[in-house]
Amino acid sequence: MTKKVSLIALAVVLSAAILVLGCGKSPQAQGRAAQQSGQSVMYVGSANSNVYHYPTCASAQRINPSNLVTFSSAADAQAKGYRPCKVCRPPY
Ligand SMILES: [Zn+2]
Repeated sequence: MTKKVSLIALAVVLSAAILVLGCGKSPQAQGRAAQQSGQSVMYVGSANSNVYHYPTCASAQRINPSNLVTFSSAADAQAKGYRPCKVCRPPY
């Protein structure tokens, strides 16, 4: 009986630990997944301007999501008539 009880206790402790670890790990895992899936979006621009930015640029973050245009590369942005931002300086 004691063995059974301690096994159940162990199982409870383990599942609690897995839950805690899982919760602790998931934001990082999600961040990595987002970075990996975000590799196709290298630069962003606004439909109302002809400037492209790094997605991290303050100007890029002010773009209205409904006007957001994404580019897979600098060449892609230039092919669509965009020029690099003078603040975040993406490659030309
Ligand atoms: Zn910028």
